Amino acid sequence: MKAIVLERKGEISIRDIAIEETLGPRDVRIAVRNVGICGSDVHYVQHGFIGPFVVREPMVLGHEASGVIVEVGAEVASLQVGDRVCMEPGIPDPTSKASRLGMYNLDPAVRFWATPPIHGVLRTSVVHPADYTYKLPESVSLPEAAMIEPLAVGMHAANKAHIVPGDVAVVIGAGTIGMMTTLTALAGGCSQVILSDLIQPKLDLAATFGPVTPVNVAEHDLADAVRDVTGGWGADIVFEASGSEQAAAGVFQLLCPGGRVVFIGLPGAPIAYDVVAAQIVEARVEHIFRYAHVYPRALALMGGGKIDVKPMITDLFPFERGIEAFDFALDMPPTSVKAQIELGD
Ligand SMILES: [Zn+2]
Repeated sequence: MKAIVLERKGEISIRDIAIEETLGPRDVRIAVRNVGICGSDVHYVQHGFIGPFVVREPMVLGHEASGVIVEVGAEVASLQVGDRVCMEPGIPDPTSKASRLGMYNLDPAVRFWATPPIHGVLRTSVVHPADYTYKLPESVSLPEAAMIEPLAVGMHAANKAHIVPGDVAVVIGAGTIGMMTTLTALAGGCSQVILSDLIQPKLDLAATFGPVTPVNVAEHDLADAVRDVTGGWGADIVFEASGSEQAAAGVFQLLCPGGRVVFIGLPGAPIAYDVVAAQIVEARVEHIFRYAHVYPRALALMGGGKIDVKPMITDLFPFERGIEAFDFALDMPPTSVKAQIELGD
């Protein structure tokens, strides 16, 4: 089948690749339609590795995907040929201890698309377990459905934050994940989000999502802004979605007594952790790794109109222009958020 393949660090091609896939009784075969280009795809192209995951042989890129079912396994009752779906890119071992405890995202044996040596889905079709394939509500388009994967990260973070209606949240970083976290924080009951970034066009876009106070930290101090908005009390929740070491080390300065911090971004190095600053507000600190059990809720929020991801789908490329799409994603203009590649029917 045709695929977009990372041959080795810095070299992508569009070519035929043989991938052995047999349709098991609980699997579905999906014609892939929309695939978002993620920061991790770009990172593998640029560097050839993320942490311990090293690209040693050609790998198909892409893990943020939607598509249409073309074949169903004998035991699949929940899905039919022709259903429009999105897919969770991580397949755990359902019998593992982590899976049995409900933390299937933390199963050490999870097979995650476009994480070496597992192929991604920038290709004509894929066989996937029906249990990790979700039918779309009528009102959700295939491009929107391919946004569910980054949205799921924000959903998982919102769950970990235990939002109470009316909470004030800070989201540090207005990249794709920061924007998704802003949307889920508002949908989850936050009365407002104070969103910080250095890139003004991203803040301008996110300010259209609802009660969002954008703070450009090139010009303004975030802690001052939080004090202004909260009358000096501090934010109930701080979502760290920038991965900036400096920002991650400063989260407790923004927090109210009894507040919660959720670390989402991946700092490039260990950070200074101010234990005393955390102690004096009795901060509760959470971390997330991908997500679990959130796709159906994310789809329901999108289907019901509570979350609109359309403004973030800024750039669509046909499959034949996939290499151009990656060149674009490697050096994206500040007005762009998510580039997607579309496969034809
Ligand atoms: Zn992603």
